[in-house]
Amino acid sequence: MLDLHTHSQYSKHAKGEVEDVVKSAIAQGIKILCLTDHAPYFVDSENRILESELASYVKEVRSMAAKYSEKIKVLVGLEIDYHPQHEDYIANLIQSAEVDYVIGAIHYVYVNGIKINVWDVEHLSTKEFLDNYFSYLHKMIISGFFDSIAHPDTIMRGGIEEREFCDRFVPLVQEMKIHDVAYEINCSSLTKSNYDPATKCKTKGKAVYPNYDLVTTMVEQGLSFTIGSDAHSPLNVGFGVRENLELCVKAGMDTIAYYEARRPVVLPINQLLKGKCL
Ligand SMILES: [Zn+2]
Ligand SMILES: [Zn+2]
Repeated sequence: MLDLHTHSQYSKHAKGEVEDVVKSAIAQGIKILCLTDHAPYFVDSENRILESELASYVKEVRSMAAKYSEKIKVLVGLEIDYHPQHEDYIANLIQSAEVDYVIGAIHYVYVNGIKINVWDVEHLSTKEFLDNYFSYLHKMIISGFFDSIAHPDTIMRGGIEEREFCDRFVPLVQEMKIHDVAYEINCSSLTKSNYDPATKCKTKGKAVYPNYDLVTTMVEQGLSFTIGSDAHSPLNVGFGVRENLELCVKAGMDTIAYYEARRPVVLPINQLLKGKCL
């Protein structure tokens, strides 16, 4: 099995040393693990690696990779926040960090000058928010910076109609293919709350993403996919990966990619599910 999206205490709002994350993965039989802590970003320095820590983060993950190399392949990645006006910052960051895998993420969207966080679920279904979010997504896809996009569908937590999300997303699928960007199957939905605009209530326990109708469309169009738990604690490493891979197979997907030295390595899902990935 594999998990390509995990966090350690370098992300500040996540728990566990890098080694704890690696040990948890080994205990669950995961053979390919990528640490993807939140990259430095001046907009919010309290929830991420500090610029002064970036080199030690990479070094620490590499040293754990060497220590446990007989049991697991450990890769180092970054989840990098995207904003169209900060592309120079992102370019410098990617150039300075020697990582295996770079995921682009949108966690903050500016609406009329106000910063909306994607976890402010009650603010995610207005037309202005959605217009800006999808505009950022488009620019992120064509920027050429990223191997894959972290949880492009996480805004479904805000109660957007599935039909509207798919209608807005489908035009981006060809752009992802042209620009060689993979879609991340993010398995964290069940651990997070969702908002229902009709009742103005938050609930938990329903997986609102990924949307498997959209996944089927993307499979038909030949897109690449990655997968990760988005664990913020060693306890959640691997969470939901097997279940989502099974749903991926039902949606017609037969391969999943991980990245090493920024190059994709494609694995057959049926072999992964049988525990024979390496
Ligand atoms: Zn994220
Ligand atoms: Zn994450």
